[in-house]
Amino acid sequence: MAPLVVIGGGVVGLSCAFSLVERGAKVTVIESRDGAHGASLVNAGWVTPSLADPVPAPGLVGSSMKWMLKADSPLYIRPGSMPGMSRWLFDFWRHCNARDFKAGGEACSELGRSTMELFDQMQSRGVEFEMHADGLLHAYMNPLMMEHDHAALASIIDKSIRMPEIMDGDAVRAFEPAIGDAIQGGFWFDSDRSVQPGSLVDGLRDWLTEMGVEFRTGTTVTGFEKGGSGITAVNTNRGTIQCDGAVIAAGVHSGQVSALAGRPLPIQGGKGYCLNYSPPPVEAKHPIYLHEARVAVTPFDGALRLAGTMEFSGINEVVRPKRVAALSRAASKMLRNVSPDPNKADSIGSGLRPMAPDGIPVIGLLNGYSNLSVATGHAMLGVTLGPSTGDVVAELMMTGKTPEVIKPFSPARFRA
Ligand SMILES: Cc1cc2nc3c(=O)[nH]c(=O)nc-3n(C[C@H](O)[C@H](O)[C@H](O)COP(=O)(O)OP(=O)(O)OC[C@H]3O[C@@H](n4cnc5c(N)ncnc54)[C@H](O)[C@@H]3O)c2cc1C
Repeated sequence: MAPLVVIGGGVVGLSCAFSLVERGAKVTVIESRDGAHGASLVNAGWVTPSLADPVPAPGLVGSSMKWMLKADSPLYIRPGSMPGMSRWLFDFWRHCNARDFKAGGEACSELGRSTMELFDQMQSRGVEFEMHADGLLHAYMNPLMMEHDHAALASIIDKSIRMPEIMDGDAVRAFEPAIGDAIQGGFWFDSDRSVQPGSLVDGLRDWLTEMGVEFRTGTTVTGFEKGGSGITAVNTNRGTIQCDGAVIAAGVHSGQVSALAGRPLPIQGGKGYCLNYSPPPVEAKHPIYLHEARVAVTPFDGALRLAGTMEFSGINEVVRPKRVAALSRAASKMLRNVSPDPNKADSIGSGLRPMAPDGIPVIGLLNGYSNLSVATGHAMLGVTLGPSTGDVVAELMMTGKTPEVIKPFSPARFRA
């Protein structure tokens, strides 16, 4: 039996490999680097079905116009930095409307419904990683903004999620002592979780290796061999791998890899940064979303991570000091004991969120192929939706039938 090949060893590819192995498949993972890196390591680790909205949102065009050229704002666009960027940005802004936002959010919520169960399944099957069930605290400096966001929740959050109560600044500080005096209010979703990103990808890789999955690292896909309606082999810089099918889960590179099969996809990279502190400068009890700064704060065992910013400046890992400084400066205003100086962090990382212009994932068979699928475009939700994506992709690859839940994510929506 030839293996099913998973292209990409990030959280999405490893989740696909997990679910394929669970269904009895023989799997080979191809990874161009040593292993997971970038987005799958530097993310905030939030598993937040309560926050399943697509990035293109109503009103974002106005804010992004103000922000886009300021190098220290939450969103930064470096004009001309990516081939095809003008077209991509035009499409992105076209999707900043209430109808697409609602439809995208509902589709992601539906996909994410199985996430917690699947994380539990991973642990019960012996995948070892750090996971916390401390919910997610939303904290605001501006009470009007909080009330507006809270009122909007009723129509956007999944019905299975309990509506949180509003707290004033003092109540937020009593609930979460890491919160500083600038915070005027907030609310807490009790059912969200967080995972330590490095422990998740390491845990999955160790488990998959134990289950007999072959990892070909330092191996880059260079093409596909077609036979009939499907592929029969994946070509790499280190030789050809015969296969029964493949899943492209190559993050921001997925569009380039799918182009090797004649099906390019408009995936761009939304860069984000993290600052890591160990020991933590303040003992946070919960993951916190600092709204005005758009900064994620996640406590891990013996550590604290600040993560955020969205930068469209090409597919590269360049760390822009101005943007990192803006992240720690903003967090220092809202948290106790966090220095505005980014040099106080123990380490700084960057990673590219794979993003489609409509802000929702791209999952499904490539047009004209019966056994070549893609799983990418998870933007800010790759950890939240990784396990459920893996589950549906495995179902698709093993049965050839497209599960209903991934129909809104079909790559065919980008057919040139
Ligand atoms: C700062 C930040 C904070 C975030 N916070 C959260 C969060 O709290 N919760 C959440 O759900 N999501 C979060 N995200 C988003 C999440 O991290 C991403 O959606 C997710 O990591 C994407 O995973 P991936 O496996 O698709 O891509 P990647 O992690 O990029 O993995 C793709 C892999 O494919 C490999 N590859 C590429 N091309 C080839 C090739 N040709 N051949 C072989 N291999 C190849 C790459 O080397 C890479 O390892 C955050 C992201 C950032 C940057």
